[in-house]
Amino acid sequence: MKSLWNDQEAAQFVGDLAQRLYTSRLLGRDHSLVLHGGGNTSVKVQETNLFGEEEDVLYVKGRGCNLETLTAVGFSPCRLKPLLRLTRLGALSDAQMENELSLSLTHAAAPTPSVETLLHAILPAKFVDHTHADALLAVMNTPNGLEHVQEMYGDRVVIVPYVMPGFKLVRACQEVFPKRATARTVGMVLMNHGLFTFGETARQSYERMIELVDRAERYLAANNAWDVEWSSPEVSKRSSRLEIATLRRAVSDAAGAPMIMTSHTDAQGLGFARHPDVLAFSQRGAVVPDHVIRTKRVPLVGRDVDAFGRKYEEYVQAHARGEKLATVDPAPRVILDAELGLCAIGRSAHDAAVAEDIYRHSIDVIMRAERLGGWRALPAQDFFDVEYWEMERAKLKKTGREPMFLGEVVLVTGAASGIGKACVDSLLSRGAAVVGADVAPAVSQLHYRQNYLGIQCDLTNEQQVDDALGQVVRTFGGLDMLVLNAGIFPSSAPIADLSSQTWRRTMSINLDANLALLRECHPLLKLAARGGRVVIIGSKNVVAPGPGAAAYSASKAALQQLARVAALEWGQDNIRVNTLHPNAVFDTSIWTPAVLAARAASYGMTVEEYKTNNVLKAEVTSMDVAELAAELCGPRFAKTTGAQIPVDGGNVRVI
Ligand code: ZN
Repeated sequence: MKSLWNDQEAAQFVGDLAQRLYTSRLLGRDHSLVLHGGGNTSVKVQETNLFGEEEDVLYVKGRGCNLETLTAVGFSPCRLKPLLRLTRLGALSDAQMENELSLSLTHAAAPTPSVETLLHAILPAKFVDHTHADALLAVMNTPNGLEHVQEMYGDRVVIVPYVMPGFKLVRACQEVFPKRATARTVGMVLMNHGLFTFGETARQSYERMIELVDRAERYLAANNAWDVEWSSPEVSKRSSRLEIATLRRAVSDAAGAPMIMTSHTDAQGLGFARHPDVLAFSQRGAVVPDHVIRTKRVPLVGRDVDAFGRKYEEYVQAHARGEKLATVDPAPRVILDAELGLCAIGRSAHDAAVAEDIYRHSIDVIMRAERLGGWRALPAQDFFDVEYWEMERAKLKKTGREPMFLGEVVLVTGAASGIGKACVDSLLSRGAAVVGADVAPAVSQLHYRQNYLGIQCDLTNEQQVDDALGQVVRTFGGLDMLVLNAGIFPSSAPIADLSSQTWRRTMSINLDANLALLRECHPLLKLAARGGRVVIIGSKNVVAPGPGAAAYSASKAALQQLARVAALEWGQDNIRVNTLHPNAVFDTSIWTPAVLAARAASYGMTVEEYKTNNVLKAEVTSMDVAELAAELCGPRFAKTTGAQIPVDGGNVRVI
């Protein structure tokens, strides 16, 4: 491990707090030091208050903030004096500690201070850094963990035995640290938890962290316990989409809500899932207690979600000590399966990615600890206490109402532009994980976020559709909704001049491709926890065709008939199929200002008149269609199937 300190970069951060910010981000950049909101940093500065008095203020990382992307407003400024007074109390409940931490803030709107704030307060140095470094966890999670740590660090650190985070840990550190610290002490090791370092400058504190973690890495290497290699996986048979989607459904049922599940058959994921000792290794526990809110204490090995749930309930019974606890569902967050590899689960794509990332680091820690002398975890009770600790669970709490489609997966065809692109936005804004498919490459660059996947593919090519659906299921776990929007509008031609080629091409894209998609998606939609939903983007032309549009109108009319039959056949599978009929949506790529002007002129209208040529005299936009498509999938339309709804401002020929 090397210091990432760069003089040129550092020079742009002037002042104690800015320097603190800079090295906090350096720590955050290395995910083997801190992961997803883990770790924290602080600096103690003197400030003048409104009364002109000097006071010591501890700037500590706000709860749940990520070090890597930290900004100045991510620090919580706490008055140091009242905090230190608190630490001299014999006992302090979580609720009292929480209240006092908030009351110590010099800015009422600052984020809630880290749960580890008091540990930063009691360490006397100006700058304090804290991580849960992988290398140190590997060394500590062994039968001789304490001896190893003593051997590595000697009198450079003070060692505190494991105590659950909270006020008791503060008291334990306060007891041990002043007694054992010497002039050579640069850090404090909390057994089975992590490492604190400190210094008089941000650089000194940061580089001491790097130095101590580097020493742990070298110690593992010297004991032939550093390199973990996985031979490249042999995926014996490609597990079917249905197997993955069936597993996701079982997990969602256990969780009581739709869940996102990613699956990975890379060398590490599959290698660990197929390790002969996977059951023994994985069931010993997590590598550090604060991971349990993301991964649970242990993963499920295999696919028996019900058995996992029963064991989880037993674990809760055995460790709850009769207390009234927060409710946690019994569904696994990580699954290790010999065929599916490593599966990670969360309420959102982000949560699933966090569980995956944490578990990948855990695998490294487990394998290294095993080679150092045997991987050993803390007793289950220690994990349980953190898993059900309100202050830890508060990290997961989100404010406001849960988005409508959180945990659900939707595929939108023709997603690169126009109505399809707008549907992607409407569904993302309702919390869904969205897959956009389009023949245009732009679809893959539409969004850079964890709950969007863009797939460039030709929907008339059944092999490409098959591959795309495989990708959907491996990325998010299944499919709950389908928006069939892709279609073409061939150039106008009277029947007398209509070529068979144009006719066939129109039918192939507007009709045949949708039949294949409906057929292939049906088994997945059947497994949707809240029932499958299909929205078909039809056309006003179905009921009010125009001359010169025979191929388009006939293809959309046939598609409409297909949708009606699907609604009849799939009701028993709890899949709803509804159709929207938009008309005159001009904010799409085909309607350039020049084309629009020419068409308006041919009807003797201004562009404005042409755009609003309907009963309501209202312009219909892609977003109008998309918002209705999204709502059709939602609870307000839960009892509606086989419907055909115009989105056209009212058309005299349709009404
Ligand atoms: Zn910690």
